[in-house]
Amino acid sequence: MPQTALAFDADLLRRYDRPGPRYTSYPTAPQFHPGFGEAELRAAAARSNGDPIPRPLSLYVHVPFCHSPCFYCGCNRVITRDPARGEAYLARLRREIALTAPLFDRDRRAVQLHFGGGTPNFLSATQLADLALLLQSRFHFGPAADCDISIELDPRHGRPQDLPVLAEAGFNRVSLGVQDFDPAVQQAVNREQGIEDTAAIIEAARGAGMQSINIDLIYGLPGQCLEGFGRTLEIVTELRPDRLAVYSYAHLPHLFKAQKQIDARLLLDGEAKLALLQLAVERLTAAGYVYIGMDHFALPGDALARARARGDLHRNFMGYTTHADSDLIGLGVSAISHIADTYSQNPRDLPAWEAAIDAGRLPVARGMVLDADDELRADLIQGLMCHGEIPIPALEARHGIAFAEYFAADLARLYPLAEDGLVTIAPDAIRATPRGQLLLRNIAMCFDRYLAPPADAADTRPRYSRAI
Ligand code: SF4
Repeated sequence: MPQTALAFDADLLRRYDRPGPRYTSYPTAPQFHPGFGEAELRAAAARSNGDPIPRPLSLYVHVPFCHSPCFYCGCNRVITRDPARGEAYLARLRREIALTAPLFDRDRRAVQLHFGGGTPNFLSATQLADLALLLQSRFHFGPAADCDISIELDPRHGRPQDLPVLAEAGFNRVSLGVQDFDPAVQQAVNREQGIEDTAAIIEAARGAGMQSINIDLIYGLPGQCLEGFGRTLEIVTELRPDRLAVYSYAHLPHLFKAQKQIDARLLLDGEAKLALLQLAVERLTAAGYVYIGMDHFALPGDALARARARGDLHRNFMGYTTHADSDLIGLGVSAISHIADTYSQNPRDLPAWEAAIDAGRLPVARGMVLDADDELRADLIQGLMCHGEIPIPALEARHGIAFAEYFAADLARLYPLAEDGLVTIAPDAIRATPRGQLLLRNIAMCFDRYLAPPADAADTRPRYSRAI
């Protein structure tokens, strides 16, 4: 039975608070290289069609536009208020879909579609509905009840009357950015968002029959305090979303330009951040939410919580999902695909993506082919992130290895974590303890063969956010 209990151990969290990947993929994006292009992607799609039992398909669409910059933002986005840019983007997305859909056998089932951003609802509800329906006509989606069709909505620009339009086009899940309702924090991050607007979108989503509503919060934002964040948690638990993500703010202004506008004097130290995380864990568990893994919580009746309890939760670039291992097709600027044994990514800047589409090319900028060792470690890390454990005999059988021998060096890195009580090591499995559940990425890092920076690396600034 997967471990779901969570123990907050401040001393341990303090000691293990170091930068590391979030492992929405393994290997992680810094390993992608420009030697992987359109020909490699076409070959991967052909290989994936040839599998004896082809994997289902998941689709991700990136909409990069936002009306104004939130200063904490680390997403790939373009700030504009010009709706014509949305229309031009849609025209190219339709061409990308026309180039991509024929690569996949028509009978392959599509089980997941997610619109992310940026701000997907920069586009109108009618534009979003038309795009979703176009994708449903070009890929073979099953009955609505078996598919996740989800969208990230910015409540500041959402209208309650848009929700039935989206539901009519098949959307059955929504995710809302909130971060913090404290007005002082909202001002410090340039994101002023009313409680009423957010509540109205949630009510409209429920009224339109959406199966699941997610809210994103962030701790560690400038000016946050226990009292203000406590009030936010109180409001949010009253709004009762089915799922909650509580992310740690990663201040990496050398990577994300918008963050340079944050007044560094208002940033919290490690102790203050830890106190906010503790508050969130206590309040959410007291309100009946269960821990899913890596910053995510859900009500016990939600599909993610049930999948976690059954032991069949999965994780991909879009986060946790109930759908078994699928091939992921990313559409739009910066979108990432995972087809067969490959990862690939579209250009991260809009003009390069536009130029590729205008030239009639699949817009692949970089990627990689996974070798057998990558596949094994990806499988191991998936087990850890989704179920808090590494099932040793199952991995040995699937990959034809002797675990202790193959991972001798990795286990040597793991032993100190076992001594600190983050994991237990037994012949049948390595399991994260309740104290280790908030440090899953630190456990996974022991098994990441790419983590050490090259000895001659000139830039030693962190590429990843910290664990807490
Ligand atoms: S946080 Fe979201 S809404 Fe704000 S700038 Fe980033 S992508 Fe846009």
